[in-house]
Amino acid sequence: MSEVKAYGAKASDADLEQLDIKRRTPLATDVHIEIDYCGVCHSDIHQVRNDWKNSKYPVIPGHEIIGHVVAVGSEVTKFKKGQQVGVGCMVDSCQNCEACDEGLEQFCENGMTATYNGKDKHLGGHTFGGYSEEIVVDEKFVLNIPENLDTKAVPPLLCAGITTWSPLRQWNVQKGDKVGVVGLGGLGHMGIKFAHAMGAHVVMITTSPEKSKDAEKLGADEVLISKDEKQMKEQANSFDFILNTIPVGHDVNPYLNLLKRDKTMVLVGAIEPLKDVNGGALIIKRKRLAGSLIGGIEETQDMLDFCGEHDIVSDIEMIDIQNINTAYERVVNSDVKYRFVIDMQSLKK
Ligand code: NAP
Ligand code: ZN
Repeated sequence: MSEVKAYGAKASDADLEQLDIKRRTPLATDVHIEIDYCGVCHSDIHQVRNDWKNSKYPVIPGHEIIGHVVAVGSEVTKFKKGQQVGVGCMVDSCQNCEACDEGLEQFCENGMTATYNGKDKHLGGHTFGGYSEEIVVDEKFVLNIPENLDTKAVPPLLCAGITTWSPLRQWNVQKGDKVGVVGLGGLGHMGIKFAHAMGAHVVMITTSPEKSKDAEKLGADEVLISKDEKQMKEQANSFDFILNTIPVGHDVNPYLNLLKRDKTMVLVGAIEPLKDVNGGALIIKRKRLAGSLIGGIEETQDMLDFCGEHDIVSDIEMIDIQNINTAYERVVNSDVKYRFVIDMQSLKK
């Protein structure tokens, strides 16, 4: 076991501060990683602030991890010392249920181990995430990072990337489909890039008119201001697919109204009760409301490889860990362009 520096919160109303945590001594199948960069997901904030009522303290957030291998266990075959690697939202699963057999570790029937705030099978207690100097992870949950990509802008792919990629694939978005992405934050900006790369006609659906120019630069063909009822009416019944990243419970009816007959809106953000859903909005044109959770490990690797081939990374703002509390405020105020990434070297200051 080793002790490493980390940054985390001791209570739901506390700022993040420097803390010391323990990492296990690497096992035969483990990869020991020194962390270079870690993205800041809105989920980190939800967990620190106990929005989902299941946080365990201290919370050491971070599940968009890029680092390099400092050592590998004797049975590790896929990675070697010095290699650049990634770790996303999961660090383990049972590997022995229907979901794991299908490569859907995020739905492991015996419970996947989340990168932070999961049950730590090795040290007891709960897992600690990427706002730290080092992490030790079973090689099955370590990702290969295409070498041509700009490392600093890769971390968000590990959560924001896979969370938007997976539903676009699952619902089979095709060239020419009219796809709406709701919410231009960390997830939304990756949603635009992927839908655009898949050849869709992409509409950014936002509450922030000032983000319109950026949305177009990211690959949106149109911008729809969700607060403008007239614009929303004009686009009613016209979408083939909607990816909704709004981070809180909200009224989904105006968005359902945008879908064509038989089409689906997928929620990835609002992991909490929604306002009353009008059954009529679903029934009248046989519309569907669905959800999606990150993606499996193989699918995550496919997404990273696609990013390598198409030169896709995130648009990031790099920060030192000491500025994390201000960054959280900015995310909550929808003022992020479009993902904060922490330079973990700053933790050594
Ligand atoms: P983010 O960077 O804060 O982006 C969310 C965007 O949603 C905001 O920038 C804003 O965009 C819009 N928005 C915020 N509050 C809104 C409201 N009340 N009504 C309408 N629009 C609102 O967050 P993120 O990191 O992309 O994460 C989004 C959500 O997904 C979070 O809840 C996170 O926990 C969750 N998440 C889920 C998964 C999963 O597997 N399902 C994985 C990762 C994250 P505009 O200014 O454009 O309106
Ligand atoms: Zn996340």
